[in-house]
Amino acid sequence: MPTSSFALTAEQELLRSEVRRFAEERIRPGVDERERTHEFPADILREMGEMGLLGMLVGERYGGAGFDTVSYVVAVEEIARVCPSVAVTMSVSNSVCAWPIYCFGSDELRERFLPPLAAGVHLGGFGLTEPGSGSDAAAMRTTARRDGDHWLLNGEKAWITNAGFAATYVVMAKTDPAAGSRGVTAFVVAADSPGLAVGEPETKMGLKASRTAPLLLTDCRIPAGNLLGQVGEGFKIALATLDHSRLGIAAQAVGIHQRATELAISYARQRVQFGVPIARHQAVQFQIAQMATELEAARVLTRHAAGHEGEHHGGRLASQAKLYASEAANRACYTALQIHGGNGFSDDSEISRLYRDVRVTTIYEGTSEMQRLVIARHVLRG
Ligand SMILES: Cc1cc2nc3c(=O)[nH]c(=O)nc-3n(C[C@H](O)[C@H](O)[C@H](O)COP(=O)(O)OP(=O)(O)OC[C@H]3O[C@@H](n4cnc5c(N)ncnc54)[C@H](O)[C@@H]3O)c2cc1C
Repeated sequence: MPTSSFALTAEQELLRSEVRRFAEERIRPGVDERERTHEFPADILREMGEMGLLGMLVGERYGGAGFDTVSYVVAVEEIARVCPSVAVTMSVSNSVCAWPIYCFGSDELRERFLPPLAAGVHLGGFGLTEPGSGSDAAAMRTTARRDGDHWLLNGEKAWITNAGFAATYVVMAKTDPAAGSRGVTAFVVAADSPGLAVGEPETKMGLKASRTAPLLLTDCRIPAGNLLGQVGEGFKIALATLDHSRLGIAAQAVGIHQRATELAISYARQRVQFGVPIARHQAVQFQIAQMATELEAARVLTRHAAGHEGEHHGGRLASQAKLYASEAANRACYTALQIHGGNGFSDDSEISRLYRDVRVTTIYEGTSEMQRLVIARHVLRG
């Protein structure tokens, strides 16, 4: 039975308040420092692993917490409200690494790779994008060729979240380069595999405390059994994984939107211009009303989509949630910064950090344009 989309159960509400407390007490105190130093919050992630936040959807048999997807989006939202960088690290490890291994991996792969991921001892990453292929992922050029009891992977994966910190990657490569998307296979690659190297980290406009870098595969040797599903099923697995993981990005956007709205309200109440708090000016009230309304809509749609994951229209709902929540959160951060006036433009303001962090939510795990293509394909099919 799908979880109720509009109201949280007592367990989900308890999780929400515990994650909020953890985010406020353990993550917020170092946010500004990490923004300056770009330090990766490894200790915090280990604690999140102990809380079950890094194997949320993995069954208990493999050391996971066995939460439902609504609980997952609730937790990502609360972490993103305080630190979108930590939220993307969490979302990637849960959604595009542990989740496909759990859903498509053999028992042997699950037993080997999932317990350390779920415990937060290991982090996960996902290699789909390449320098020459982003939205058109089927145009990837990375290859995998069988060599006795191993596969040899060659190519470059670009913009890989957690690269260098992850111990496990799910990597897509062509086993039959002539077969287009049907020639793609999904592999599980341990970070210490011979032939795997991590390139220079990207310098980014936001998400400064998350790590993004290329993965370089040069005759990268992995055991023959390290594949998800069958040879040639990798593209289907990548699409199913993205249908799932988009919920995490929608939730990340909702968390940022929530915080931007809180900051706008608090600033508007205390900033006095023309003899009254600016919250008394109707133009400012209307801006805040719009942000608050779009926030409710984004949250409800995200939880609704999470509650219907795996159903016939689950992929469409996930794309709609990701599209709406990310676009709405970008509008909200723009408006909230406007309400802060010049003080919002200061590098030291929280809203300026959120304004930079939110930008990528309409880009990664499928741009807004790609979401519209997916949604149109579903609705036009009838
Ligand atoms: C911080 C960050 C972290 C990331 N983490 C990961 C990761 O962990 N793993 C991973 O594999 N990738 C990751 N990515 C890559 C990300 O998923 C891609 O950037 C994204 O899919 C878009 O691909 P692209 O950048 O190549 O843009 P392109 O595909 O080149 O698109 C450029 C523009 O053209 C538009 N466009 C392209 N095709 C069409 C079309 N048919 N119709 C209309 N418009 C179109 C796009 O919407 C976009 O606006 C990350 C990116 C960033 C910035």
